[in-house]
Amino acid sequence: MARYTGPVCRLCRREGLKLYLKGERCYSDKCAIDRRAYAPGQHGQVRRKPTEYGMQLREKQKARRIYGVLEKQFRRYYEEASRQQGITGEILLQLLEKRLDNVVYRLGYASSRAEARQLVRHGHFTVNGQRVDIPSYQTKPGDVIAVREKSLKSPKIKELVESAESKTVPAWLERDIASASGRVLRVPTRDEIDTPVQEQMIVELYSR
Ligand code: SF4
Repeated sequence: MARYTGPVCRLCRREGLKLYLKGERCYSDKCAIDRRAYAPGQHGQVRRKPTEYGMQLREKQKARRIYGVLEKQFRRYYEEASRQQGITGEILLQLLEKRLDNVVYRLGYASSRAEARQLVRHGHFTVNGQRVDIPSYQTKPGDVIAVREKSLKSPKIKELVESAESKTVPAWLERDIASASGRVLRVPTRDEIDTPVQEQMIVELYSR
């Protein structure tokens, strides 16, 4: 499965804000955005007035990078969202939020979505008792996501589960640290999704 493997701090610098792609490092003074708060590359410090298209493109790239989704798959999410009844931008974000790797991250069992993706890929999680190793798996209300019993023997996974206690869980999810699990209570509403993107601009970009 394809994924971005280049330098991730560069992505934050391009978007001009912290996308929290590196877990603990993002909260330390080593964060590249704090050190070099300008776009990467030779012309990174040149100020240009962005065009409307440029602004829409940045919003789309930002969302893609936050959720770690490549262009082709992101477009598929958009197409799926536009087929459904309701506000396309909001449905798009809901589809991204319901991805299994995102749910694992939101439950606090990983310090970044990239880490959550890797844990899922390595088969450390189950959905309703069945091992699922597909990061893009769409969870639905009622689904129980749990760390695999065998995986709990790993000190690294154990540490991740214990450290989840200090992290807050959004209202659309419920977490039970004792059983290293969580449940999807409902589909999140827009105000429950703290992703800093203007999804309407993404819709405008794709409907050009
Ligand atoms: Fe982004 Fe985290 Fe790198 Fe800071 S440390 S630039 S928030 S990925």
